[in-house]
Amino acid sequence: GAVDLEYDLVVLGAGPGGYSAAFRAADLGLRTAIVERYATLGGVCLNVGCIPSKALLHVAAVIEEAEHVDKAGIVFAKPSVDVDALRKHKDGVIGKLTGGLAGMAKARKVDVLHGYGSFLDPYHLEIEETSGNRQDKSGAKQVVKFKQCIIAAGSAAVHLPFLPRDPRIVDSTGALELRQVPGKMLVIGGGIIGLEMATVYSALGARIDVVEMLDRLMQGPDADAVKVWEKQNAQRFDKIMLKTRTVAVEAREDGLYVSFEGENAPPGPVRYDMILQSAGRSPNGGKIGAEKAGVIIGERGFIPVDAQMRTNVAHIFAIGDVVGQPMLAHKAVHEGHVAAEVAAGEAQGKAELARSAFDATVIPGVAYTHPEVAWVGYTEAQAKAEGKKVETAKFPWAASGRAIANGAEYGFTKLVFDAETHRVIGGTLVGPSAGDMIGEVCLAIEMGADAVDIGKTIHPHPTLGETVGMAAELAHGSCTDLP
Ligand code: FAD
Repeated sequence: GAVDLEYDLVVLGAGPGGYSAAFRAADLGLRTAIVERYATLGGVCLNVGCIPSKALLHVAAVIEEAEHVDKAGIVFAKPSVDVDALRKHKDGVIGKLTGGLAGMAKARKVDVLHGYGSFLDPYHLEIEETSGNRQDKSGAKQVVKFKQCIIAAGSAAVHLPFLPRDPRIVDSTGALELRQVPGKMLVIGGGIIGLEMATVYSALGARIDVVEMLDRLMQGPDADAVKVWEKQNAQRFDKIMLKTRTVAVEAREDGLYVSFEGENAPPGPVRYDMILQSAGRSPNGGKIGAEKAGVIIGERGFIPVDAQMRTNVAHIFAIGDVVGQPMLAHKAVHEGHVAAEVAAGEAQGKAELARSAFDATVIPGVAYTHPEVAWVGYTEAQAKAEGKKVETAKFPWAASGRAIANGAEYGFTKLVFDAETHRVIGGTLVGPSAGDMIGEVCLAIEMGADAVDIGKTIHPHPTLGETVGMAAELAHGSCTDLP
C-alpha cells in the first residue's frame, strides 16, 4: 500500500524506554516518531506502574507515620479515607507527568502517532488507530516508513489461566484504579509489585494475605533485609503463605473462594473480597508482527539484542522490558539512550556515537514498601554461590543517631567487598529512603571504589546516608565515633 509518513527513526512504544530513545534521537538530529496505542505517553511506568504506585505509597506512608507518633506523645484521630479524592490525586500526579512528556515531545518535534503498530516488513509499520486507553482499534490505518526502528513495546501482567473473569480479580493496573478498599484481600505473588500494592491497600484498611510459590518474599535482595522487612510488616498481614499456590478460585456473590495447595495451604477454601494477581510480567514481543520484519523473538517473548541494543536485524533495535530482566524503568531508559545514539551515529556517519553500548556493571532494585529495601550488585549469598571470596560489613541503624531519631533503628546498611581488591561489589539497605541512598553504592561500584574510598568520603551528619560511609569504615577497620 501507499506510505503515509516517513521518518529516520520510528520508536514503537512510549514507555520510559521509548520516550527516552525518541528524545535522545531527536536531540541528535534524527527525524523521529513514536507510535503509542494509548492516549498518553509514559507507558506502564507513568500510567499504571512506578508513578501511580509511588503516589499511593506516599499517602500510605503518611497514614502510617501519623499512627506511629503516638510513641512521641502525638495522637491523631483515625484517618478517614476518601477513595474518590485519593484516586483523583493519583490521576493528577500522572497527568502532570504525561502532560509534561507530551510537551517535551512537541518541543523536540517528535511526532506522536496514536495507534497500534505492527510490522509489515523490515522497513514499514502499519498503525491502526486506537481510542483512549481501551485499545479498541477503530479501523483507520496508516503506513509508516522508517530507516531505523526501536522496539520498546514493554510488558504486560501475566494472567493466571484458572482465575475466573470477575471485576473483583485485578492485576496491578486494576489495583491502581482504586475502585474499592476491600475488607479482605489476597495478593498472589510475593514480589515487589504485589508487596507495594499490599502496603497501599493495608494502609487504607484492608486485611491482607499473601501467597507465594517460592520459599521467600522478594527474590532480589539479601535475605537478612527480607527478614527485617518481614518483622516490620508482621502486623500488616494476616497470613504469608510461602511455598504455596492458589489452584482454584470460585466467584460467588458473597466473595471469591480460593483453594490453595502446598506447605502452608489452609485446609479448605478461603473467602476474599478482592484478589490481586501479581505473579510476574511477560514481554509484548510476540504481539507486534516482528516476524514480518525478520526480527527473532526469543524464549518467552523476549527479543534477543546485543550490547548496542540491536536485534538480529541490524537497523532494528529493541530496549526495555521487551528485551529481558530486570524489568525496570531505569534500565529501559539507559538502553533507550544507547539505541538512539547508535542509530544516530550510523545515520550520520559519526563513528564514536555509533560505538555507544550498554555496559552498566550493576542495575539497582528497590521495593518502595515500608520500610524500603534497596539492593545492587552482589548479595553475600550470590557471591558465595559463585565461589567469590568476599568480605561484608553491616552497619546496624541502631547505631545511627538519625535512624533512632526517626524511629528507624531496625534498619541496616550492608556492603559486600571483593576480599582481594576490597572494592565494593554489592550493597543492601533496608529502612526508610533506602531507595534514595542506593545510588551512592551504584556509583561506588561503577567507579571501582574500595572500602577506604567510601569510608573516607565525608558524609553529612546526622543522616541515614552516612550509614553507607560507616559500613565502609567497618570494613576497613576504623570507625568514627559519631552515633
Ligand atoms: P512500557 O512502559 O511497558 O511501555 C511500552 C509501551 O508500548 C506502552 O505504552 C504500550 O502501550 C506501548 N505498546 C506496546 N505495543 C504496542 C504496539 N504494538 N503499538 C503501539 N504501542 C504499543 N520500575 C521501576 O524502575 N521502578 C518502579 O517503582 C516500578 N514500579 C512498577 C509498578 C508497577 C505496578 C508495575 C506494573 C511496574 C513497575 N515498574 C517499575 C516497571 C516499569 O514500569 C517498567 O520496567 C517500564 O515501564 C518498562 O518500560 P518500557 O519502555 O520497556 O515499556
